[in-house]
Amino acid sequence: MPAGSIDRRGFLQASALGAAGVAVGAALSSCGGTSSPAAHPVGPPGPATTAQWAAYAASLQGHLVRPGDRAYPIDKLLYNPRFDALAPLGIAYCASPDDVARSISFARDHAVRLAVRSGGHSYGGYSSGSGHLVIDVTPMAGIAPAAAPGTTRVGAGARLIDVYNVLGAHGQLVPGGSCPTVGIAGLTLGGGVGVFSRRYGLAADNLVAVTLVTADAQVLRCSPAHDEALFWACRGGGGGNFGVATSFEFRTHPVPPITLFTYDFNWSGAHDVLGEWQDWTRTVNDAVWSNCQLLSGGGTTVRVAGVSCAPSTQTAAWLAPLLARVPAPTYSFLGAETYVNEMMVESGCSGLTVAACHLDTTFANGTLSRQAFAASSNYVAAPMSSARLTAVVDVVDQLAAELPGLGGGLVFDALGGAVNTVAATDTAFVHRTYLASIQSSFSWTSSTPASELTAGAAWLEHVRATVYDPSTGAYQNYIDPTLTDWRQAYYGVNLPRLVAVKRHYDPDDVFRFAQSIPRRL
Ligand SMILES: Cc1cc2nc3c(=O)[nH]c(=O)nc-3n(C[C@H](O)[C@H](O)[C@H](O)COP(=O)(O)OP(=O)(O)OC[C@H]3O[C@@H](n4cnc5c(N)ncnc54)[C@H](O)[C@@H]3O)c2cc1C
Repeated sequence: MPAGSIDRRGFLQASALGAAGVAVGAALSSCGGTSSPAAHPVGPPGPATTAQWAAYAASLQGHLVRPGDRAYPIDKLLYNPRFDALAPLGIAYCASPDDVARSISFARDHAVRLAVRSGGHSYGGYSSGSGHLVIDVTPMAGIAPAAAPGTTRVGAGARLIDVYNVLGAHGQLVPGGSCPTVGIAGLTLGGGVGVFSRRYGLAADNLVAVTLVTADAQVLRCSPAHDEALFWACRGGGGGNFGVATSFEFRTHPVPPITLFTYDFNWSGAHDVLGEWQDWTRTVNDAVWSNCQLLSGGGTTVRVAGVSCAPSTQTAAWLAPLLARVPAPTYSFLGAETYVNEMMVESGCSGLTVAACHLDTTFANGTLSRQAFAASSNYVAAPMSSARLTAVVDVVDQLAAELPGLGGGLVFDALGGAVNTVAATDTAFVHRTYLASIQSSFSWTSSTPASELTAGAAWLEHVRATVYDPSTGAYQNYIDPTLTDWRQAYYGVNLPRLVAVKRHYDPDDVFRFAQSIPRRL
């Protein structure tokens, strides 16, 4: 791994700087829906008896884990340890859409709350819940690339690194995110931004069909031709709102030549680096994606890092106008990389095998640890004023001075390019005009005192008050339990249509959590 290359997982960890078979082959109905064998039977709900739980477990092609089972203490965990206290009633590892339908019916029959889980990375812990039945789709993790770039079918439980690895072996890619252990389902349903977004769009923009099991246990394959409104909502409307996705069909792209670059600067230049970067990223070729990171943890650092879909010489030429205007870097790297290696670097998995680039809690050979963090997000609509740039530098200085034990800071991820060629209402992902997103976060370890966590939360509020522009909203995949105006922030003008889709496909609010789309405005 080139020292100092981009690594968003590393940002959340080290910015603590101190941080199959494709089960998608299961029987589908065409959209419009065919009753599945487990379609919801009518009858008064009542608590399930032990025998009923056992009968339900026996009916699954996958398996059920319950409190008291040996696997339960680990299987109940999400990515973020801050949710470790959640105690679901059961975790149903669903191996087919039929398993999902049976699980929905069982939960409805016995008045058990549902949560849906793929990679388990929800910032709000919304893929689990005490007293809930967790529908876990990870057994449906197959990835079936087409012989040539065209479309691929990906099981809803696939982790990003496996998608990249399998498709990359066929010279293809689907643009996704950077964290290797994130699930394709949560990522895609909320949009999915990453290093190839400016060139090829969001993950959701490359979706051609999605198969979902709805609240009435129907299996629907949704596309522009069938259940178009639900298909629209699944491209940015956010996970856990409309049903359980069991597979996705994506358009793939031939892997282009890839160049990585990283430049570190003295902290004294942070204001100017961020200011010049925001002007440069607005005009640079869409083949270039980058971010500007201002981080605290063992000191303060400012870094511009990115990926270009072009050879090194062309990439260097595109970077030249930026480098001519910023202070001299203290560290520079620019070099060609293969696609899968690039995604491993991006994932913080440089030097590891793909098998090792998984969580140690979910894969036998996984070596990655979970990470406790809190985060919020916002967007940059137009180049930030000098005063706002100063505010950014100040909040990172404040974090470094007052809470040196917490890693964290602000990362500005470039948008534009293909993300902004789609109209705000064409998909449920509304954030289509911005030049960058902002993610502010801090992370901690199990030995961090509670008082520092309280102070960290106050710091995030301070960032919101001094740096954010509330009119630009927030990214629904960085779902933020502390946000009060989240409906507007995540969905903007698309909210009324999402509410209508919710009312139509989930009239009883079976899929609900603290920030799920409501049935009425
Ligand atoms: C370290 C880290 C790095 C990240 N990097 C990026 C990035 O580069 N780009 C980006 O866009 N995002 C990124 N994210 C955010 C990520 O996209 C979201 O957290 C996403 O929701 C996680 O999906 P998941 O399947 O892993 O999580 P889960 O917790 O399993 O699911 C997230 C939400 O989707 C729902 N859901 C899960 N599976 C299904 C399903 N099959 N059907 C319907 N609903 C479902 C859940 O109920 C929950 O509400 C990152 C997150 C982390 C923690």
